[in-house]
Amino acid sequence: MSTTVFVSGATGFIAQHLIKQLIAKGYSVIGSVRSTEKGDALKKNLNSDKFQYAIVRDIQVEGAFNEVFKNHPEITIVLHTASPFTFNVTNPEKDLLIPAVEGTKNALNAVIEYAPQVTNVVVTSSYAAVLTIAKERDSSVTFDESSWNEITWEQAKQNNLAGYVGSKTFAEKAAWEIMETKKPHFTLSTVNPNYVFGPQAFDSEVKDTLNTSAEMINSVAKLTANDAIPETTGGFIDVRDVAAAHIIAFEKKEAASKRLLLCNKRFNSQLLLDILNENFSYLKGKLPVGKPGTSKEITDKMATVNNEATKKILGFEFIGLKQSVVDTVQQVLTVNGKL
Ligand code: NDP
Repeated sequence: MSTTVFVSGATGFIAQHLIKQLIAKGYSVIGSVRSTEKGDALKKNLNSDKFQYAIVRDIQVEGAFNEVFKNHPEITIVLHTASPFTFNVTNPEKDLLIPAVEGTKNALNAVIEYAPQVTNVVVTSSYAAVLTIAKERDSSVTFDESSWNEITWEQAKQNNLAGYVGSKTFAEKAAWEIMETKKPHFTLSTVNPNYVFGPQAFDSEVKDTLNTSAEMINSVAKLTANDAIPETTGGFIDVRDVAAAHIIAFEKKEAASKRLLLCNKRFNSQLLLDILNENFSYLKGKLPVGKPGTSKEITDKMATVNNEATKKILGFEFIGLKQSVVDTVQQVLTVNGKL
């Protein structure tokens, strides 16, 4: 009998890659989705009898996960990825902060109450819970696995970006607090990725607008030659590495009780344009050129991310920015019949 892993938010960009990798490694997977339509579509794409879905319509409703664990005593590993990731909301507290925090508490509390057989819980947190935005563009600052976003709940309510980074910070804090106060029977690890780039797990997921992080690349690929170059900058990690890290988070003893900080390289829009202009003849002349080769001037001014401890635990090389960006855009252009 193979080990059964529960993945919340199974239809998500990261979760779909995660489920593919879990199945490829021989695990059985139960994924939570919001509707039968979404579950059936995912099941069709995965095309595996090792996958089944359970309906959890809204993670923030108290007891949201209880039925899943009551009905599936075979689950021994829990990967909680579900959380709203969008900067397009009307009320950051109601739409981001509360669902993220309550969803995480509901997941862990359901395991405590109904799943004594679970050995490991991995929560998908974020670099958002690590950085403090005001320090991100200060090159004298270093963030590592011990860093915490200093944002307050009040500040997090002020705008959508603050709401999202606050939602990840307070959700992760809630998870560690449950570990501290309830001393449950399982081990917790968190995965804290920077912006996650890379292709969709399935071509059918390529829509006009992709998920929030992949759309950061797609939106640059959709620029026209005379458009202003967006000021977007940050750090990135490829989605396939994020999926692999979730699996190592419960498989390797060294990852127990750790925060795995996933950041490969700094990027900005100029660097994304350089990669696109160099690698896609179809896009030649259609995109802005900017000042090729100058991205370092901006990325060098940013805080340093030191994730050596995480890299040592993971023990694999991260996928590079060029491959991640090329794979993302290649899929979009191919699906849209442009290549
Ligand atoms: P997606 O938006 O693709 O996936 C989010 C998933 O969560 C979807 O399955 C969504 O369901 C589900 N979900 C959201 N809110 C609820 C809710 N209230 N009730 C039930 N399900 C809900 O995002 P990603 O795959 O990019 O993100 C997955 C996780 O990774 C999130 O926790 C995110 O914060 C974290 N993360 C992502 C990063 C990135 O750059 N992509 C970076 C760092 C962390 P549905 O689609 O049906 O609404």
